[in-house]
Amino acid sequence: MSTTDTWGATGGSAHEVALEVLLHGPLSRAELARRLGLSQASLSRLTKPLLTSGLLIESPTRADPATGRPAQPLDVVQSSHHFVGVKLTGEVAAAVLVDLRGTVRRTAQAPVTDPAPDRVVAVLADLVASVTVGVRPTGIGIGLGGHAPDHRTVAVAPFLDWSGVPLADLLERTTGVPTTVENDVVALTAAEHWFGEGRGRRSLAVVTIGAGVGYGLVQHDQLVVHRDVGIGLVGHYPLSAHGAVCVEGHRGCATAMLTIPSLIGQASVALGRPVTYDELLDLARAGDRACARLVDDAARALGRLLAAVGNLTMPDRIVVTGEGVALAEMARAAVDAGIAGDRDPRASALDVVTRPGDFRQWARGAGVVAIQEFVLRTR
Ligand SMILES: [Zn+2]
Repeated sequence: MSTTDTWGATGGSAHEVALEVLLHGPLSRAELARRLGLSQASLSRLTKPLLTSGLLIESPTRADPATGRPAQPLDVVQSSHHFVGVKLTGEVAAAVLVDLRGTVRRTAQAPVTDPAPDRVVAVLADLVASVTVGVRPTGIGIGLGGHAPDHRTVAVAPFLDWSGVPLADLLERTTGVPTTVENDVVALTAAEHWFGEGRGRRSLAVVTIGAGVGYGLVQHDQLVVHRDVGIGLVGHYPLSAHGAVCVEGHRGCATAMLTIPSLIGQASVALGRPVTYDELLDLARAGDRACARLVDDAARALGRLLAAVGNLTMPDRIVVTGEGVALAEMARAAVDAGIAGDRDPRASALDVVTRPGDFRQWARGAGVVAIQEFVLRTR
């Protein structure tokens, strides 16, 4: 039996053992038994077939941190499986090749010039081919701003003007590789939960700022999903009585206060010429009064949003990311002031971290969704 079959065929407690090692390994047998509440004898019985099949391996001997005695911790072979993750937008498709623990091995990017599904599928198939030269991928994950409730058919993707596009079927027909489609913020949250800032935490919130505003939540070690995932519900959360107006007519909502299109639009009006996002941030740093005001107001609004996330969903940690994340990093003091204004002074400090939010990270998120589809699928 190859390890390709083993993840799917491994049921019950053995699957839990394998998953624990994937997510937290290498782990000694003593530590693994403690984490899963198993006796050493049960653990030995469960791990034996996993070792025989090659799904788990014994790492080189070292001192067990728990007992000090020499032990051979159990691990997975990270390079035993590879997955392709793709972030798809209306303008560009970015692909990564990741291993079993979501480590990025290769990257590629291509423009999307025609949103017709067959043209997009051709672009995706080329990207998959270019990052998998010499490697047979186990699965493909596609992340996009939209909604695919069955993880195969895109019900709605506004940036591509798609509805009811059977993306997984179309791509599988070309590549022959099992494909999963997921909302991009859900995918990014999944990646942070398993292999990022949320690793080992039972609750986590992810807030993204960029073309839109996104929000993902993990509670009790489970990703929170809902039929409205993909609509971008947090995008219209009210943050300022005096902000710009969004397309839905909300003054000062998250979209109006925090998205790149809204901020560069406001900066361009203030300066009387087109301004890019990087330029806006540079000008604010250099003391341009209009840009500094825009950045400060946006950062305070972000702080208010983070305070709301903390107050209402009480996550252990909040990860701020997305292609607009540089704003949160350069204006951290204003973000913190926004948080403080809406928190009870007795409340514990919010654990807020920022992460790079480029296409590579989004694509990695889609790759982790493909990993999860593979290791959690039981057949
Ligand atoms: Zn709005």
